[in-house]
Amino acid sequence: MKFKNKVALITGGASGIGRETVIQFAQNGAKIGIFDLDQKNIESVRKQIMDYCDDFVSITGDVSNKKNVQECVDTLFEKYGDVDYLINSAGILKDNMIDKIQEEIFDEMLAVNLKGTFLFIQACVRNWIKAPKLTIETAKKEGKPIPKPTSFPDKRIINVSSMAAEGNIGQIAYSATKAGVIGITKTAAKELIQYNIRTHAVMPALIYSPMTEGLVTKDDGKWKKYYEVRNPLGIGEPKHVADVILFLCGTESHFMNGAIIPISGGRLHSL
Ligand code: NAP
Repeated sequence: MKFKNKVALITGGASGIGRETVIQFAQNGAKIGIFDLDQKNIESVRKQIMDYCDDFVSITGDVSNKKNVQECVDTLFEKYGDVDYLINSAGILKDNMIDKIQEEIFDEMLAVNLKGTFLFIQACVRNWIKAPKLTIETAKKEGKPIPKPTSFPDKRIINVSSMAAEGNIGQIAYSATKAGVIGITKTAAKELIQYNIRTHAVMPALIYSPMTEGLVTKDDGKWKKYYEVRNPLGIGEPKHVADVILFLCGTESHFMNGAIIPISGGRLHSL
């Protein structure tokens, strides 16, 4: 039980990569907080894990809505006293070429994929740094040595970016948001390590999930074939991403911070 007595908050935890991450955390003994849009989907995850996890809080809401995000984080801190891992997996994909994409779609993708990630980080971090910040400020005032980061509780933030952050035809908005997630990750990693908070991002290539179902079956499997050729290891499963997320939350990755990890399906070229 690798994560016994730990609390994992997973946005987008009702589907795809987030759902598999919830399952793996639950199998490893963690208490779970799921934040997602749809209560029905959350219920189906609850049923799937109820044999081995009865410590489960579900909150419905929109990651781009600050009030929803704050309520979720407050609820978890009230129920469990703390959160150890924040996994930002909620996201949307609405592809179109540069000349065709609507401004409203661009704004919506930014709000969900990028601002949503920021809002959850900010809400958790405000709780996490309260005590360490005070300790550091007091040490400075009293002229004492600043405590080492590892003297504070170990916290992890894992953001789900995408290989599309490197640019992809038809994904002008999506790639912008996922590149933004990498920027957020690098900044948070630098700013927060003094408080013993490690921040990482994963960059999956194409993964089978409800998000990509349409793409994989579209045009008589033309796109499926395209991705299978492009990614020598084929199209991935949510497990391939969840495995890495759990590694980044575990003791094995204790000496890492700010890692941006491609889960690339073996892809050799980004252009
Ligand atoms: P998914 O199966 O569609 O899961 C995404 C989850 O996020 C869904 O439950 C969705 O709810 C939820 N969500 C969407 N908008 C939300 C909002 N505003 N507030 C709260 N929850 C919201 O997709 P996935 O493939 O697992 O993707 C997970 C993450 O991986 C995303 O950030 C995605 O961009 C990234 N990613 C995916 C792939 C891939 O090939 N699948 C590759 C690279 C990166 P509804 O279902 O109700 O809309």
